[in-house]
Amino acid sequence: MKFQTLCSGSKGNCAVLQSEQSKILIDIGMPLSVLEKDLLAFGIRPEKIDAVFITHEHSDHISGLESFSKKYDKQVFVHKKGFLTLAKKSYYANHKITHFDKPFVFKDLSVSTFECSHDSAYCCGYRFDDGKTAIATITDLGVADSFVIDFVKGCKLVLLESNHDEETLINGDYPAILKKRISGLKGHLSNAQASRLAVEMQKVGVKRLLLGHLSQNNNSPELAFYETLQMLNKNNIREGVDIVVDVVTQDKKSEVYHVE
Ligand SMILES: [Zn+2]
Ligand SMILES: [Zn+2]
Repeated sequence: MKFQTLCSGSKGNCAVLQSEQSKILIDIGMPLSVLEKDLLAFGIRPEKIDAVFITHEHSDHISGLESFSKKYDKQVFVHKKGFLTLAKKSYYANHKITHFDKPFVFKDLSVSTFECSHDSAYCCGYRFDDGKTAIATITDLGVADSFVIDFVKGCKLVLLESNHDEETLINGDYPAILKKRISGLKGHLSNAQASRLAVEMQKVGVKRLLLGHLSQNNNSPELAFYETLQMLNKNNIREGVDIVVDVVTQDKKSEVYHVE
């Protein structure tokens, strides 16, 4: 499979995944014109996208969905518990929106989801398995528990939220209520939480970890990377050998990862 994040962060999220038979998007939180350009650079004509998988209805994940749907009319998948909220957002109710509440097969991909603890109608992490390997995306969650590790067991590549540096958030100038929301059980994972998950993920076979959904104001790629690096070192796990860690960002596409 091939995987690339086109943007990842508090201001917009979109990733593209290609298997032998499927070309899919995970969220569209970016302008259509940029998406079209990025897809062509990836090697996919936008009209060849088979489906869009939505994690949840926050605008950083769906801001470009309406314009994409109007132009290309592709199937949109969303979890049943998030369907009504998404449908209420004007346009989607009339469209090819499919809801699911259990694992299913889409073309050559087995799709399963993980419920993220987040302040949306419903937010899910996705796992895509093509029979040879698997990729998971897990962002927008306030709780890092062992269920996350069970979910990614056997995945070669995982996109994991590493949203904020705890100290930067505490000392920053966000209103107290917003600080509470971000660091709360229905908020976002901190670098420290992500770093602890990184250790456990390596133990269950994850080979490449992409730290993503970084806050623009309360994090930096360097802070996110070094927090996880330090935690791996502490646990005698060699970054670059036992697991490779990359940070994916808001303004730049990631490299194209080939996962086998
Ligand atoms: Zn969200
Ligand atoms: Zn988000």
